[in-house]
Amino acid sequence: MAYFDYANGCPVDERVIEAMMPYMTDEIGNPSSVHSLGLKARKALDDAREKVSMLINGAEGDIIFTSGATEANNLAIIGYGMRYKRKGNHIIASSIEHMSVINSCKFLQKNGFEVTFIPVDRNGIVDVEEIEKSIRPDTILVTVQHANGEIGTIQPVEEIGKIVKEKGVAFHVDASASLGKIEVDVERMGADLVTLSSNDIYGPRGVGGLFIRRGIRVQPIIVGGGQEKGLRSGTENVAGIVGFGKAAEIAKEEYKEEARREEKLRDELIARILEIEETYLNGHPELRLPNNVNVRFSYIEGESLVLSLDMEGIYASTASACTSKTLEPSHVLIACGLKHEEAHGSLLFTLGKGNTEEDIDRLMEVLPKVVERLRMMSPLYRKSKGG
Ligand code: PMP
Repeated sequence: MAYFDYANGCPVDERVIEAMMPYMTDEIGNPSSVHSLGLKARKALDDAREKVSMLINGAEGDIIFTSGATEANNLAIIGYGMRYKRKGNHIIASSIEHMSVINSCKFLQKNGFEVTFIPVDRNGIVDVEEIEKSIRPDTILVTVQHANGEIGTIQPVEEIGKIVKEKGVAFHVDASASLGKIEVDVERMGADLVTLSSNDIYGPRGVGGLFIRRGIRVQPIIVGGGQEKGLRSGTENVAGIVGFGKAAEIAKEEYKEEARREEKLRDELIARILEIEETYLNGHPELRLPNNVNVRFSYIEGESLVLSLDMEGIYASTASACTSKTLEPSHVLIACGLKHEEAHGSLLFTLGKGNTEEDIDRLMEVLPKVVERLRMMSPLYRKSKGG
């Protein structure tokens, strides 16, 4: 098999599983219990917090563990909005944010907020000038992702962070697609709130976190026993959090070298796919994640390509797994100015630690034939060939 869907599902690193095992067997203490087993569990959480913090240069704030990036985005946007709604009720977001950001903004919209969605260019780069122009006296939060999980485009977050800070507005960055792929440094970004995800760095699923800069307040969206400094109630997922911490520690040591390796594979894969006629790259040609290849093929549906490749033991995606459930084309590709049929003809390959040169050879043995076969079934294609 050749697996090219790392953005939607990552295997957990063996070393992470090893670190988690004791917390699923012998170390049964609840971090809120005052006995020694409880204290051990609490210490395990604090160690994990430290490791995640080290990966993002997060000493000037704290990390609140959540069930994943979606919850962290909800906590950042809804939690910040509700906390500061008396100060202002205007929020700015890019139009290619993950649905967990877009829908958090829409939730606030239904609750008395105004939201401005900022357009992106053909490569998916957000219009920075437009962000600056959109900031008003009642703007309290700007949210822009670090990188897009679907098209791989990396945003100029440092530049945006400076502008936002000058205006005295809080800045949220969703770094779940970029963590462990490129440098995520909360200081350089000038970010106040940063969303993180564990599975994207070979940690377990169902764990994530929100970096909150010292002095920034959010209102909890999950209330109960007051765990995680009152910001995220519920008994902590100790094993998962320990796994996230271990994955962060490994990522800090290893991600740069791995990113260089994947970048070479990515460039080779892009070059070879683009040799197929009427095939185009989605996203930015240079400012893109080292593991992201998103291409579109005229005259065919990405969905049919995914299924045809699946039959050959090759796994790819049409877009992020979250949006591919709806039959709507990807909002990200549409925001980049693609026509509906262009968006529907798009295919996403995301590389990871397990991929080798042989995987690419295997894919390229199959892909041109599948594309040709599917195109032959398309009346539009045959017509374009004079058939
Ligand atoms: N933000 C971004 C940028 C993503 O790519 C994703 C999907 N991996 C999420 C948020 C949501 O992550 P999860 O489904 O793990 O909550």
